[in-house]
Amino acid sequence: MTSRNQALFEQSQQLIPGGVNSPVRAFGSVGGTPVFFKRGKGPILWDEDNKPYIDYVGSWGPAILGHAYPKVVKAVQEAAARGLSFGAPTARELEMAELLCKLVPSMEQVRLVSSGTEATMSAIRLARGFTGRSKIIKFEGCYHGHADFLLVKAGSGALTFGNPSSAGVPAEVAAQTLVLDYNDVAGLTETFKSIGSEIAAVIVEPVAGNMNLIAPKPEFLQAMRDLCTQHGSVLIFDEVMTGFRVGLGCAQGLYGIKPDLTTLGKVIGGGMPVGAFGGRRDIMEKLAPLGPVYQAGTLSGNPVAVAAGLATLKLLQAPEFYEKLSSMTRKLTDGLTSVAKEMGITFCAQSVGGMFGLYFSAKAPTSYAEVMQCDKEKFNTFFHAMLDEGVYLAPSAFEAGFVSAAHGDAEITATLEAARRAFAKVK
Ligand code: PMP
Repeated sequence: MTSRNQALFEQSQQLIPGGVNSPVRAFGSVGGTPVFFKRGKGPILWDEDNKPYIDYVGSWGPAILGHAYPKVVKAVQEAAARGLSFGAPTARELEMAELLCKLVPSMEQVRLVSSGTEATMSAIRLARGFTGRSKIIKFEGCYHGHADFLLVKAGSGALTFGNPSSAGVPAEVAAQTLVLDYNDVAGLTETFKSIGSEIAAVIVEPVAGNMNLIAPKPEFLQAMRDLCTQHGSVLIFDEVMTGFRVGLGCAQGLYGIKPDLTTLGKVIGGGMPVGAFGGRRDIMEKLAPLGPVYQAGTLSGNPVAVAAGLATLKLLQAPEFYEKLSSMTRKLTDGLTSVAKEMGITFCAQSVGGMFGLYFSAKAPTSYAEVMQCDKEKFNTFFHAMLDEGVYLAPSAFEAGFVSAAHGDAEITATLEAARRAFAKVK
């Protein structure tokens, strides 16, 4: 019998390119039929065939409280009843700006947008407008959304599909983007030495989560800060994924580095489309209508989306929220590591706050090149075995995973039992 998932995927492919509205969802990397979900509650998702899954994707990060968290749903319902969009300023946006600037001390001003892509694209334009320079530096395997000049050796779906520089990106545009190795202090220092005065911005995922999970070496982030200061370049921390995921002060709080601009998304919308970019006042004041750098959005600061974000951000401030989230995530990664070890599988795992990486390799990778050496075939076997068991991992070996505050001991125990059977298939 054909499952409803399968039938929906077949029909979707007729009308939607690849059957999906974002490439990684198509299971291109792991093979097989993508799962169509119809409902989520807490740590669980149900597919169209009514099969439940313990969810470790969390909509790629936003679902930090678990799915359909009652207070967030109520905030959305109340906001929706008052009007879906006004295209004019609202008091709620001010409340959101106040909260973001309080929680992220490097943000003196902030502007809301509707996605992470818009946030990074706008931050780069602003950095270029502010410095009057064109060149930017990014790191191989980092993904910063799909603006042309950031789709160069990018991570996430761009890695999965082996299409690091997308067709349709003009060579002249890509030429303004220099790509260096993540965690390579010498490469960064050398580049600044030769063309530091031409660099508008360095953009980085302070914990890389789009080539599996790569933790930063502290000296890497510090070198970036020092070099940008010395050369008058703008340091942009792309915290679309790490923001409010690794701690209440984001990755910059965790590692004690103050960027000039920060981009946010995912968690700050609580599952609704919200992004933000903000930072130094002297830079932010270059934005229209104050300054010459144009940026705008019909739905920017949308009242329903902002209501979801605000309700989420308020709940994240509960005492020990991040201690509990981090320790539950560590329980998962430590548990998986020890099950694999018992079974003689070459595997390791690590976490930062509520995000984690799983690697079919002896030690955690520190660069794109090392990620590429992990055993992708073993990951794919493991992924499908876990899916059969009712555990939904990111459908690619190049994505970080996420634990929510709704995941408890019961879900972790069930996941580790499933993993024991899944590892047996990998063997
Ligand atoms: N930056 C980072 C670090 C991301 O992880 C993502 C999305 N995964 C983006 C930017 C783009 O965000 P969006 O998909 O909301 O456009």
